[in-house]
This record gives sequence, structure tokens and C-alpha cells, in this order.
Amino acid sequence: MSFAQRSDAVHVRAPGKINVYLGVGGRHDDGYHALATVFQAVSLYEDVFASPADDFSVTVTGNVDPATVPTDDRNLAIRAAKLLAQATGVTAGVALELRKGVPVAGGMGGGSADAAAALVACDILWGTDVGPARLHDLAARLGADVPFALHGGTAVGTGRGDRLTPALARGRFDWVLATSPEGLSTPAIYGRLDQMRDERGALADDPPLSLDVPVPVLQALRAGDAGDLAAAMLNDLEPAAIAERPELDLILAEGVRAGALAGLVSGSGPTIAFLCAGPDAARVVQEELRAMGREALHVHGPVPGATVIS
Ligand code: ATP
Repeated sequence: MSFAQRSDAVHVRAPGKINVYLGVGGRHDDGYHALATVFQAVSLYEDVFASPADDFSVTVTGNVDPATVPTDDRNLAIRAAKLLAQATGVTAGVALELRKGVPVAGGMGGGSADAAAALVACDILWGTDVGPARLHDLAARLGADVPFALHGGTAVGTGRGDRLTPALARGRFDWVLATSPEGLSTPAIYGRLDQMRDERGALADDPPLSLDVPVPVLQALRAGDAGDLAAAMLNDLEPAAIAERPELDLILAEGVRAGALAGLVSGSGPTIAFLCAGPDAARVVQEELRAMGREALHVHGPVPGATVIS
């Protein structure tokens, strides 16, 4: 029997994200890069079911290759559950089922969404009721993208991407996601960017250690203007992702030819997010990309963060 069918399972859903803007600055002494990013939560979800158990376990279902997701203590959902147990003195365990809708290692924060959903689900299952501020702190300890998966919507992330402030976004944005069957490693893409910057050497300025999101990005979001957002969106990791996976450049061109306003690599890739003028335009872009043999999904944002379903 799937945990999802157990009447005592707590079901929490959390969204994947697109980085509408991702500026990458220099590296701090601890190895982390300075970031200025805008996250938008989109309608592609991770469903997490938490059931009572004496110890900790995780099973993974959905449209994924199980070999790509660890089921031991490296799994972010298990780490989230253990962190909450440790912080609250809970001695019970939990059996987690992750029904994955977000591509693994796709640059859309699927593991972070699992961690956020697992925190919320275990908090209910165990009756620990830690409250939003403490949940946020625990999320931040699990990874820079986890607090955003908790809150959802549209938000600016600065510092290491973890200092979050909500951003005003009017209306809805329609995106077509071109997904890839094989993921990219986030550390490898940052490494590639560093290497490309080193090769440019002394001719280039040192990347800044503090940076901001450009005003036109925030204005376009506030106005709900997809055309303006398409002109302003940017990802500093994109050249590194393309260097690692040259086919991404081809897919970017295909989406624009199919009628998207613009496309960009999401996070560290390889998912490409195409911004479209509206739902009808997105359906056309999705169909055209599929006709070219690409995996394409039509989603919209912003959507709420981790939400209790039952
Ligand atoms: P990032 O958040 O670094 O941008 P991503 O969105 O590209 O990552 P994820 O699907 O979150 O990719 O996972 C990246 C890696 O983390 C996977 O390759 C996997 O080894 C590991 N991982 C740990 N926990 C999970 C999880 N619950 N789901 C998926 N991957 C996980």
C-alpha cells in the first residue's frame, strides 16, 4: 500500500522554482558565491506524504529514475525531518514518500521543495507546532533555496541567495519548461563559471561580493508585464550551463522560434524556462517544442509555497 493511501499520512505539496534573474558575484572565503536572484514558484510540484514510524525512511515515486535520488541521510527530506526532530526533542521517526513532479537536478529546486514540505508535514505529524519563524530558520539551515520553497510566490534572494524578501508580482506569468532527461550538477556549473572567469583573467574586473537585482526586473514583475520581464531576465550561470551542455543553446533558439518572448536556463540548468505572452501562446510553444522532440511542460507562476493538502 502506498503511504499516500494511508489515512494517517500528512500530505504537503511544495512547488519547484524558476530563477527569473540570477546574478552571480565573487566567491566568499567559505566558497559560496555572492548572489542576487529572483525566485518565482511555479505550478510544478513535489508531493510529500509523512506517516508515523519508529525510524526514518524515504521512498521516491513519480516520473524519475530512482537511482538519481539518494534514500539515505543525503536525502534533503530525511535531513529536514531529522533536523526538526533534533530541534524539538522528538524521539519518533517518520516514513516519507516523495512523489516527484520537479525534474531531478534540473535547476528547479526539487530537493529543496521536498525539504520544505517534509518540515511542514513532520511538524504536523509530530504536533511540534514550531511556528513560521522557527520553520524558516530550520529551512535556512538545510539549504539556500529551502526557505523560498516554504514561502513560494515571487521573492528576491540576496547574500548567498538565502536572505529572502517578498517581491510584488501582479497577475500570472506563463512559462514553458523544456526539461532534460539528464540533470546537471549545481557545484559543477558554479565550478565551470569560476573557470571561465579565471580564463578571462586580469582583463576582467573582479566580480562584486555584494550585488542587487536590477530595477527593470522588479518593475516588470510589479507591472505584470511579460514583455518587459522577457527583456530584463538574465542568468549569469547560463554560459557555464551551455558550455557544459551545448545542446541548451539549440533549445533556447527553438523556443524563441516557436513563439516564446524569451528563454533562460533555470538556476544551474538544464531546465530552460520560456516566458510566453499568455496561456494561449504558451500552448503553441509547448506543442511546437514537442513536435521538435523536446519534453515541454506548460506551467504558471507565482504559486504559493508549501501547502498542507490533508
Ligand atoms: P539546486 O537546488 O542545487 O539547484 P537542483 O534543483 O538542480 O538543485 P535537485 O533535484 O534539488 O536539483 O537535487 C540535486 C541533487 O541533490 C540530486 O542530484 C540528488 O543527488 C540530491 N538530492 C538530495 N535529496 C534529494 C531529493 N529529495 N530529491 C532530489 N534530489 C535530491
